[in-house]
Amino acid sequence: MINQQLDQVGWYFDHSYIKLPQDFFAEQLPIQVPNPKLILLNEPLLKSLGLNKKTLSHEAWGDIFSGNKIPKKAYPIAQAYAGHQFGQFTQLGDGRAILLGEQISAEGKRFDIQFKGSGKTPYSRRGDGRAALGPMLREYIISEYMHAMNIPTTRSLAVVATGERVMRDKVLPGAILTRVAQSHIRVGTFQYASTLNDIKKLKALTDYTIDRHYPECKEEKNSYLTFLNKVIERQALLVSQWMQVGFIHGVMNTDNMSIIGETIDYGPCAYMDRYNAETVFSSIDSQGRYAYANQPPIAQWNLARFAETLLPLIDQDPDKSIELATQSVNSFSTQFQNAWLKGMRQKLGLFKEESSDIDLINNLLAIMQKNNADYTVTFRHLSSDTIFKDTISRDISFLAWHKNWMHRVQKQQEGEEASRLMMLKNNPAIIPRNYLVEQALTMAVKEEDTTLLNEFIGALLKPYEDSKVFSEPPLEEDKSYQTFCGT
Ligand code: AMP
Ligand code: MG
Repeated sequence: MINQQLDQVGWYFDHSYIKLPQDFFAEQLPIQVPNPKLILLNEPLLKSLGLNKKTLSHEAWGDIFSGNKIPKKAYPIAQAYAGHQFGQFTQLGDGRAILLGEQISAEGKRFDIQFKGSGKTPYSRRGDGRAALGPMLREYIISEYMHAMNIPTTRSLAVVATGERVMRDKVLPGAILTRVAQSHIRVGTFQYASTLNDIKKLKALTDYTIDRHYPECKEEKNSYLTFLNKVIERQALLVSQWMQVGFIHGVMNTDNMSIIGETIDYGPCAYMDRYNAETVFSSIDSQGRYAYANQPPIAQWNLARFAETLLPLIDQDPDKSIELATQSVNSFSTQFQNAWLKGMRQKLGLFKEESSDIDLINNLLAIMQKNNADYTVTFRHLSSDTIFKDTISRDISFLAWHKNWMHRVQKQQEGEEASRLMMLKNNPAIIPRNYLVEQALTMAVKEEDTTLLNEFIGALLKPYEDSKVFSEPPLEEDKSYQTFCGT
């Protein structure tokens, strides 16, 4: 029955990735699951991919997004990659993910449709290939919020509970997340290509990536160097956006850095409540390698690893190649700083650049840190008198800062009201607060009640609208809040 309907669903698959040398992937079907139950379906995303919800029943969508019924034109593969995990180089690959194919949307855009948690693959190493329901719902929540904030990200199309139990530190209900990305090519894919010691294969991957994502590079004299520069530019912008919203990725290994600058791999990530530059949530990040403030230098470190993979292509003279690549990687700091400053100015309602802006911003952050101020609330309240109800306003250094900032705002020819509006558009009222995420997940997973989860997602999709329930910071700081890789 379902197979007959599939063609009308709107699948329009292409499979450009499998034209790469065979080293880059392995054919792999998702492993069947006992009892699929569709928990979340992202209808706007479904539609934008050209898929027609009405053509299938709720159950039938569950069969598809569990991998139990494969669309006819899918060609499921697991992708090979490598990566530096906490600084250590390792061979990896999709150990629990399957790429169904590249869906071509009505506008002709290409999107990877990937299952996460769909069973073992040749790259599973000691893992079970599965995922637990809580972490998959968590990825759905956080990635869709990122999208709502206009921060480049992979998307979440569906979450299906599998009816299987997965063994972690305790037994948990299993689930599969369907992830949508412009592609899943990572810095780690290039590192993997390097390990093949075959320039033709490296070139095949690079040319493929340029064709797919950065075709404009082909017109440049040194297209490979331009490609490197474009990737650096996108990462600088992405990390600046994370910093502006208080996001901590938590596991910025090179295999978790997308070549097109989308946020990818939502594992131990979280948003900070109270501002502290050293915030780390991940249970395994004992050294704070991926702490909030370390994200820009770590991104640059990862990009240096990426640049190394391209050295044989950038110039025939190895010294020249190193010189050019080093220059590019070094440019990250300035690019990051400029992107960050631009965004922070908008958060403070500043229209034009002034050399003192950086001090103005850093002073505020230091005062916030000293006062344990909530990052999101402070910026949101700055645009109105409500800031004077917050504890931070009892600090005389804050009052001095505020006076100085008001002076800067008032002398702008655009006027105070325009500045206030700019702030309201650049300071979200809602972030996925850890305590709310936990509440929504507990209800959904333990009590099998998705009411709060759905309400929360609804609110997160309108991040600039104040909400009585979802804008509230936690009453007390949970200093012990920890996140896990979700494996
Ligand atoms: P991540 O920490 O999610 O970036 O994963 C790092 C590597 O471990 C990737 O190669 C994953 O595919 C693999 N991996 C994570 N969880 C599992 C699992 N449950 N089974 C098999 N492989 C896994
Ligand atoms: Mg990963």
